[in-house]
Amino acid sequence: MSCVAIVHCESYDQALVDAAVEEACLLGGMPEVTGKSILLKPNILSDAKEDRCITTHSQVVRSVVRLLKGKGAKRILIGDSPGLQKPSFLPKASGIHRVCLEEGVDWVDFTKQPTLTTIPYTRGKKLPLASILGEVDMVFSLPKFKTHQLMYTTGAVKNLFGLVPNLYKSPCHVQFPSREQFASLMVGIAAVVKPSFSLMDGIIGMEGPGPANGRPRHMGLLLASCDALALDYAQAQIMGYEPKSIPIIAEGLRRSLGSAPTLYPKLNAGDLVQHDFLRIEMQKQTRFFHSLIIPFVLSRYIRWKVKRERKAPVFLSDPCILCRKCIDICPANALTMQHKRIIIDPSVCIRCYCCHEVCPASAIAVDEEINS
Ligand code: SF4
Ligand code: SF4
Repeated sequence: MSCVAIVHCESYDQALVDAAVEEACLLGGMPEVTGKSILLKPNILSDAKEDRCITTHSQVVRSVVRLLKGKGAKRILIGDSPGLQKPSFLPKASGIHRVCLEEGVDWVDFTKQPTLTTIPYTRGKKLPLASILGEVDMVFSLPKFKTHQLMYTTGAVKNLFGLVPNLYKSPCHVQFPSREQFASLMVGIAAVVKPSFSLMDGIIGMEGPGPANGRPRHMGLLLASCDALALDYAQAQIMGYEPKSIPIIAEGLRRSLGSAPTLYPKLNAGDLVQHDFLRIEMQKQTRFFHSLIIPFVLSRYIRWKVKRERKAPVFLSDPCILCRKCIDICPANALTMQHKRIIIDPSVCIRCYCCHEVCPASAIAVDEEINS
């Protein structure tokens, strides 16, 4: 049975969030945590200020910490690893570092001696994962309710990609260029991590060109479940997607990572569908892409097909602040700076949109249409 608790929470007022988090966790079947060490994995992405709605809100993280302390957790740690993380990174802008200090919990640096791990469903791909996974009893995924330009939605399963330290992430797009291949990688990582519980901050989510450049949308919701995939299924439904058309959900169902929700103890996702939500337009899947063996064999064909079907990002010179973050993260070396402008080589670009995710100035447009 996959129970997803969806509860109302209208604002980030701490008392409201505390009460809603407790209700969601109780109804969502949060496991016994007494005496356990628990890693909390919020979505920090690029550690932006909370009003941009890119990161899991610090008040939500704080409420989870307080709840776990009250339930007798032995040790609580918080960590994430944004793509351009420096060794000394602390999530100060998002307020999550302040939560660590004020609540007396440890911030974990995922870049320290990560453990090379074979990821299932990827034909033997090995990736470094945060070594803290071997030291804690439980992982809680704390995603943000957001769209995602590449994967349509980002949720409890995709959030676990942050356990791959910083710049090890973006090169994965070279090896897993199609959405379906990338979904296999995300599901494989989740199968290794086995999150014990997930709680999604959907109080103010993001619509449009997420996960970093969309626009905030008040949803007034928290979602919680022991089944990360079921939680993502409910999120996709609320956004107005057919959940099984989301590659990570389709692949997760196929691999029995989780299931569609079978029980909504409070609010039902079907009653919360936002028909005017700004979604990323779904690209047609072909029968070719439904075969998950052939794509790995015909990788050159896949790359050609991805380039043909997805548009390369467009760089806008006016808002650009020349920070070079896009150049630093681009796994294909498709970008250069010339005469104070970012220049893209579309023949080299693999359409992963990592540049779009890290741009702090909304200076990169991805011209895949948005549905409303
Ligand atoms: S230019 Fe952007 S979309 Fe193209 S490969 Fe580089 S990071 Fe990916
Ligand atoms: S990340 Fe954005 S602001 Fe920074 S150089 Fe690239 S386009 Fe310009």
